[in-house]
Amino acid sequence: MPTTPASQPPSPITALKGVGPKSAERLAKLGIHHVQDILFHLPIRYQDRTRVICIRDLRVGDQAVIEVTVKHAEIQVGRRRTLTVSVSDHTGLLVLRFFHFSTAQQAAFKPGARLRCFGEVRNGFTSRELIHPEYRLITDDGPTDVEAALTPIYPTTEGMHQLTWRELLNQALAELKSGTTLTELLPKEVLDQFNLPLLPEAIHLIHRPSPDIPVKLLTEHQHPAQQRLVFEELLAHQISLRQLRERHQQRAAPLIPLTCGNLAQTLRDNLPFQLTQAQQRVVQQIQTDLAHDTPMLRLAQGDVGSGKTIVAALAALQVVEAGYQVAVMAPTELLAEQHYDNFTRWLTPLKISIRYLSGRSKGKKRQHSLELLAQGQLPLIIGTHALFQADVQFHNLGLIIIDEQHRFGVHQRLSLRAKGNQLQPHQLIMTATPIPRTLAMTAYADLDLSVIDELPPGRTPVQTTVLSAHRRDEVIQRIGENCRAGRQAYWVCTLIEESELLQCQAAEDAASTLTEALPGVRVGLIHGRLKSTQKETLMQAFKQAEIDLLVATTVIEVGVDVPNASLMVIENAERLGLAQLHQLRGRIGRGSQASHCVLMYQPPLSQLAQQRLSVMRDTNDGFIIAEKDLEIRGPGEVLGTRQTGEIAFRIADLLRDEAWIPEAQKLADQLLRQQPETAQALMRRWLGDKVHYARV
Ligand code: ADP
Ligand code: MG
Repeated sequence: MPTTPASQPPSPITALKGVGPKSAERLAKLGIHHVQDILFHLPIRYQDRTRVICIRDLRVGDQAVIEVTVKHAEIQVGRRRTLTVSVSDHTGLLVLRFFHFSTAQQAAFKPGARLRCFGEVRNGFTSRELIHPEYRLITDDGPTDVEAALTPIYPTTEGMHQLTWRELLNQALAELKSGTTLTELLPKEVLDQFNLPLLPEAIHLIHRPSPDIPVKLLTEHQHPAQQRLVFEELLAHQISLRQLRERHQQRAAPLIPLTCGNLAQTLRDNLPFQLTQAQQRVVQQIQTDLAHDTPMLRLAQGDVGSGKTIVAALAALQVVEAGYQVAVMAPTELLAEQHYDNFTRWLTPLKISIRYLSGRSKGKKRQHSLELLAQGQLPLIIGTHALFQADVQFHNLGLIIIDEQHRFGVHQRLSLRAKGNQLQPHQLIMTATPIPRTLAMTAYADLDLSVIDELPPGRTPVQTTVLSAHRRDEVIQRIGENCRAGRQAYWVCTLIEESELLQCQAAEDAASTLTEALPGVRVGLIHGRLKSTQKETLMQAFKQAEIDLLVATTVIEVGVDVPNASLMVIENAERLGLAQLHQLRGRIGRGSQASHCVLMYQPPLSQLAQQRLSVMRDTNDGFIIAEKDLEIRGPGEVLGTRQTGEIAFRIADLLRDEAWIPEAQKLADQLLRQQPETAQALMRRWLGDKVHYARV
C-alpha cells in the first residue's frame, strides 16, 4: 500500500466525499484503506471518448463514440426478442441492437431523433452493429462535450461502478495536485537511466491520459508512466522474495552427514531399474543440500513420469538414517495413498515404519499415529494437507517433502516450515508443472531448482487424437476391442461445474453406458465421493489388471501410476486447461507399450479451446505445453493464483514485462543492502497486507 512520510498521517478513505462505511468496507476488500491507496488502483484499459468518429471510419473491434440520426426502430422476435435501431450519419449506416429494453426506451427511438452512442463495433447480419451501446439523446441545446481525457476502466467489485471510481479518483488526484506528496521510492539514477517519470506525474497520467496518447500504447502498458509502475511493482515482489529467502536461511537446519547413505544404497540395490542420469544428478544435489546446516529449499521439477517418487524416497532415507523424521505430503488422498504404497513396498524390507494420515484418519488409529510422531517413534509419515493441522506435532522433523507443489500455496508451505521445533526442517518440493524461466525467477525466487530432464528408458511418446463427440460410439467400440485384446484404459469424465456431485454422476452415467455397450469388458468406476478404502481397492484391482476400463473423474489427474494402462479417453477435453490435460495424459505412456490418448470435444469449439487441443496433439513435452499455457492464459492462471491470490500483480505482467525482471532483481539486492527502509516501504506499498507472508 502507498506510504506517506511519517510527518503526514495518511487520511482514511472515508475522508473522500461519497465514501460511507459500506463503500469503505468494499474498498478495504481491495486493500484500499487510505486516500492515497486509491491512486494505486490502476485502470485495466482505456476507452477513447474524446472525439466523435464517422461511421465510415469505424473498424470491427473499435470502441468509439458516434453521433447519429435514427432512421427506423423495430422489435424482432426470433430466439430472443431484440430491438434493432437503424441509424446513420452523413457517412454510412449502422444498427444498434438491444436485448433488454423498456417501452419508454423503444418509444424514444423516433425517426429523426439524434443520438450520441458509445460501444464496440461488431459485424452484424446485414451491416455493422453496436450491441447494447451506451447512448444519450441529443437535445436542441447544441452539441454536448466529448471527454477531455481518455476514459480509464477500473477493475472493480460488486457495487462499485466505473463512475464511482472516476469520482473517487477525481478527489484523490485533486489532493495529489494540491500538494499531498507520494514518496518517491525509486533512486534518481534509476529513473534517469531508464527515462522514467516521477511518481506523481506517472500516477496522474495513468488515471487521466490526454487524448494525444495512443490508446494502443496505454492498453499494452508501454507508456513510460506505466512502465515505471511495472518496474516498481516487480521490484517490490523481488524484495519480498529475497527477504523471505534470507530469513529462512538464517535458521539452522539439521545437518545430514553424507555418510548416512547406507539405507539409500540398499534401496537402490533392490530396485528393478537403474536411476536415470537426471535422477542421479538430482539425488546428489539434494544430498549436498542436506549436508549443510542451512535449510534446503529445493524445487525438483520433472515432467510426468520422470520418476520423482524414487528421488523423494532416497532423500527421505538419508534423513531417517541420520535420526530425523520425514513428512511426505501429497495434494490428494489418492496420491498420498499411492505414495504410501510405494514407500511401504520400498522401505519395509529396510525395517522402517511408515504411517498414513489424512483428513479421514480418525479415532484411535489417528491418535496413535500422533503419539508416535510426537515421541519420535515414527520416522516417516505420509499424508495429505491433514499434516498441517495444529495437533500434528513432530519430535524432530528433519525433512518435508511436498509432491505436486502447484496445489499448495506459499502460505501453506510456510506454515509447515513453522512445524520444525528448534531446527528448521529441510524442504523438497516436487512438481511436474514445468515452470517457465520468468515465472521461476519471480514466483519461486525463494527456491533452488533441480530439473529431472530425462524420462526412464523405453517409453514411447503418447499419440494424441482430437475427435468430436459425434464419434463417441466409434471410440467406445475401439476401446472395447483394445480392452478385449488385453490393454487397459482410462475413461475420464469432466464437467465444468464445480460440483463434485455432478461430476460423479457424469462418471456414473458413463460407466453404465460403457458397461452396457461393451460386454466382456470389466469396467470400474472411481470418483471423489468414494470412501478412501473403496478407492484404494479399485486402484489395486486396476493395477492388478482385474479391471480393464477405469471410468474416472479428474481425481486421477495427479500422480496416479499404473504403467500397464496405455489408453485414455478424455470427455469434454475442451473444458480443461493445458496443465490439467497434460497431467491427465501423463497417466499413460508410463510403460513400454505405445500409448494413445483421445481428446473428445463437444462442438462447436471456441478458438482458444481449439488452440489448446492442437497444442496437446502436437507435443508431449511438458515444457512446451507450459510455455504455450503461459501465452494463451497469462501467468496468473498458470500458477493457479486466481484462487489463492498469491501473486496477483496490479500492473506488471510477467510475460509482457519479462525484460524488467533482471533489473528488478539487481535493484532489489542493492536496496536491501543499502536502503533497507526504502525496501520495506516498497513492499508495503505494493504488497500491503500480503507482506506478512514474507515475515515467517
Ligand atoms: P512422476 O515423476 O510422474 O512422479 P513416478 O515417480 O510416478 O513419476 O514414476 C513413474 C514410473 O516410472 C514408476 O512406475 C516408477 O517406478 C518408474 N521409474 C522411475 N524411475 C525409473 C527408472 N530410472 N527406470 C525405469 N523406471 C523408473
Ligand atoms: Mg508423481
